[in-house]
Amino acid sequence: MTKLRLAIVGFGKIATTRHVPAIAATSGVELVAVADPKVKSPGVPNFASLDALLRDGPEIDAVTLCTPPQVRTVQARLALEARKHVMLEKPPGATVSEIAPLLAVAQAARKTLFATWHSRFAPAVEPARELLAKRSIKSVTIIWKEDVRVWHPGQDWIFAAGGFGVFDPGINALSILTRILPRPVFVTGAELGFPSNHEAPIVVEMDMADATGLPIRAEFDFRHSGPQTWDIRVETDRGPLVLSGGGAKMSDGDEGVVDAMKEEYPALYRRFVDLAAKGECDVDLAPLQIVADAFLLGRRRDVEAFGF
Ligand code: NAP
Repeated sequence: MTKLRLAIVGFGKIATTRHVPAIAATSGVELVAVADPKVKSPGVPNFASLDALLRDGPEIDAVTLCTPPQVRTVQARLALEARKHVMLEKPPGATVSEIAPLLAVAQAARKTLFATWHSRFAPAVEPARELLAKRSIKSVTIIWKEDVRVWHPGQDWIFAAGGFGVFDPGINALSILTRILPRPVFVTGAELGFPSNHEAPIVVEMDMADATGLPIRAEFDFRHSGPQTWDIRVETDRGPLVLSGGGAKMSDGDEGVVDAMKEEYPALYRRFVDLAAKGECDVDLAPLQIVADAFLLGRRRDVEAFGF
């Protein structure tokens, strides 16, 4: 089988820790180049930008964009117009409306646009979806609290406009929520705490519902120094179903303990190779739409200034 010749654009934390090993573990794809203004990858040609890579680099079939969301759309358009398949890290962009034009370019060129949600590939997600389809759901509580200094040290883009702030990890919870529940959900209220010196929220409390009035509560906090918590608790007619560790574990009698992230990225690449072989797109904007709606509807309050 011919391998998909792939370039990574944006060679920061997620590219080096997750994408590179996942590509190495996937038979249908090989890393042939990298574009990043500063960081270099040994063993492949490096370029300072995607433009330079497309102009001077080796032949490629596909790119993965691991850049911050604010710069992603321009790069995705450039790559699609150069007839490359495109994998987008989450979130797919800095806005909802920028994605439809990209999808149009991809479909016209019969190239793949894959807006990934890595958390949906966590091992507990599909089992939870299957169990919840057979139960009556009473309520959902999301607690997603982590220390931004540990997980995103020095990533200033995250607190700039379009960087999502605490929604950067929070959208992972929303990607799981929108996969495991049987009906679409929408925002009914939110309170967003912005550090007085930044443009993106560091703490969010949000209420959601579905068409049946199911109460869904989410608490996202980026200042959390205690035990790091990525839990979704679903109360059902047959007791609670709890996804913890970002979907690594599920408790409902049985419990699996695995490194979710380690499993997620090879699964993303298997899916990308499959989509590219067929020239198909996979773009679900539901988690991004919820975040956008929280910004639209939510009340804003100032919280203490933050520095890394
Ligand atoms: P990061 O460590 O800051 O890496 C981003 C890289 O992109 C940096 O090396 C940055 O260079 C580079 N870059 C910026 N603008 C560029 C451009 N125009 N062309 C080429 N490269 C450019 O961020 P990250 O943690 O890897 O996150 C990247 C994306 O992955 C985000 O959307 C994030 O939500 C997602 N993600 C992250 C994690 C995680 O745990 N970190 C997990 C899952 C998904 P400079 O630093 O020089 O600007």
